[in-house]
Amino acid sequence: MKVGVLSLQGAFREHREVLDALGVEPVEVRVPEQLSGTDALVLPGGESTTMSKLLETSGLFDPVADLVAQGMPVLGTCAGMILLATEVLDGRPDQRRFGAIDVSVRRNAYGRQVDSFEAELDVAGLDGGPFPGVFIRAPVVDHAGDEVEVLAAHDGKPVLARQGAVWVSSFHPELSGDLRLHQWFLRESAER
Ligand code: GLN
Repeated sequence: MKVGVLSLQGAFREHREVLDALGVEPVEVRVPEQLSGTDALVLPGGESTTMSKLLETSGLFDPVADLVAQGMPVLGTCAGMILLATEVLDGRPDQRRFGAIDVSVRRNAYGRQVDSFEAELDVAGLDGGPFPGVFIRAPVVDHAGDEVEVLAAHDGKPVLARQGAVWVSSFHPELSGDLRLHQWFLRESAER
């Protein structure tokens, strides 16, 4: 399985390392040609406003939007989640998004950088005990639509969710040293 990791900015190396460890072929995606032959995509954490800009200047925005609309499995973490959301609150007015999962997210709503935190998360359907959630200037999910399956919550707000092949987390599974969420995403994506 070939998994593209959007590598314009942010924590793409860490995702690549997790994918490597799980025995799939990670492809660093910086230009549209690198999307060809990929079976799934990962949109990492970082800065969603910067990523939005770089997606446009690299010519990647439209091809990624098309693939996601066609049902390509995609995992978006933190800024990646913001990019996949239908609504972004406290974003920049020119910030673009793919609108692939029916959630409304508020940027930086858990507080400032110093307020980054870790929390043990109970994840529905995941064996092996709680998942260590690493939150860094994370977005808060204000609202999730009926089609959205919430897999974990923290302080009453969804932090891990999926809608069909689109998976999002407001935390950083790639920084936790726990491979189970990537493993689950890959297993389900391979079945599609
Ligand atoms: N605050 C960032 C944003 O708005 C997301 C933070 C992250 O990805 N760690 O894009």
